[in-house]
Amino acid sequence: MIAELVTTGSELLLGQIVNTNAAYMARELNKIGVDVCFQTTVGDNRERMKEVLSHALSRADLVITSGGLGPTRGDITKEVSAEVMGRSMALNEECAARLKSYFARIGREMTENNLRQAMIPEGAHVFVNHAGTAPGVAMEANGKLLTNLPGPPSEMKDMLHRSLLPYLAEKYGVSAVTVSRVLHTFGIGESMLETKLDDLILAQKNPTLALLVRPTGVIVRITAKAESEEGARRLIAPLEEEIRLRLGDFVYGADDETMEEAVGRELKSRRLFVATAESCTGGLVASRLTDVAGSSEYVKGGVVSYTNEVKADVLAVDRDMLAREGAVSDAVARAMAEGVRRKLGADFGVSTTGLAGPGGGTEETPVGTVFIAVAGNEGTTAEKYRFTGRREQVKFRASQAALAALRAYIKKYGQ
Ligand code: ATP
Ligand code: MG
Repeated sequence: MIAELVTTGSELLLGQIVNTNAAYMARELNKIGVDVCFQTTVGDNRERMKEVLSHALSRADLVITSGGLGPTRGDITKEVSAEVMGRSMALNEECAARLKSYFARIGREMTENNLRQAMIPEGAHVFVNHAGTAPGVAMEANGKLLTNLPGPPSEMKDMLHRSLLPYLAEKYGVSAVTVSRVLHTFGIGESMLETKLDDLILAQKNPTLALLVRPTGVIVRITAKAESEEGARRLIAPLEEEIRLRLGDFVYGADDETMEEAVGRELKSRRLFVATAESCTGGLVASRLTDVAGSSEYVKGGVVSYTNEVKADVLAVDRDMLAREGAVSDAVARAMAEGVRRKLGADFGVSTTGLAGPGGGTEETPVGTVFIAVAGNEGTTAEKYRFTGRREQVKFRASQAALAALRAYIKKYGQ
């Protein structure tokens, strides 16, 4: 559907006001899939306005004007519109009554010229003005629709949203919904993601594709516009499939799904239990796992082994090893995961040990260094991470990495 916007008013031509109405209307119409192909501005001059409107009706299906609906002689848009559509004007009783009650309400006398606003082209559809006095109208002829909106931006916007857009949706079925699908990734950086999806990002139109960095990892947002939600989802589906294919297990969830839910799903479907041994995350991994309803089906328990004594006494981490390697080490992380798995009789043990900062860093072990280990039937895996950020950010990122490591272990060995 091709539209032309006709903004009227000599102030616009003189450059005394900026034509914000045209930009606003264009944006809103494009959103619902109406192609705004022309924007014309004309002064309050009968002959020139007639010429502009006739021309607009010859090349567009939908012509929308703004301005010139007021009560004074200079406000001629509605009259000229009626003329080019071949209609006469008549007093609309409903509009007149609304005007009268408006003036009664604000306690001002209504002058005769105010009634001009209640003059409506015959057979026109009336848009009530909820933000001012001048009603808008819509007239149809020969498959074309000409509609007049008021000039003051607040009135134009109110009428556009309240009346015109719903009218267009009902009459022509134009309307659009925007649907976004978010894919959560972990363990892959923004630039690597972009490299993997480069051609898709370059070719994007509808759906559009965006990469956004979040504390949980980078997210891929797919946004589609269509006439219905199902239509938008149909546009998203093949692109989502392609992205999932390329990213594989880097994608752990979609939309509102969290890493703890993703891990929980893997554990639950296999009827397996996890136990946690946490130092620097202070129980955050266990807390996040148990944020999920029903987690008692796969969370055995956890130990916050913050001091070396607890690591040794409760988790049976070798004291000599602790002294030799230091608490923040690959060996201790492994021993913690194995210890808690044995102690609590779980299928998996997951551990974190690191420096959340801000103090305590050394050249060898700077703040943000975290070792994460996962122990299971297939042995123990461990990895060293360097997280950035404040203390709570390091803790959160470490918990995310620990959950991701557990998920990777389960997916790899499947137990
Ligand atoms: P009124 O009843 O106030 O006379 P109207 O529908 O006749 O309203 P105009 O007289 O054309 O509208 O414009 C009234 C005011 O609205 C202008 O003085 C200007 O401030 C604002 N306005 C009109 N057209 C535009 C536009 N295209 N962009 C931004 N502002 C506009
Ligand atoms: Mg006016």
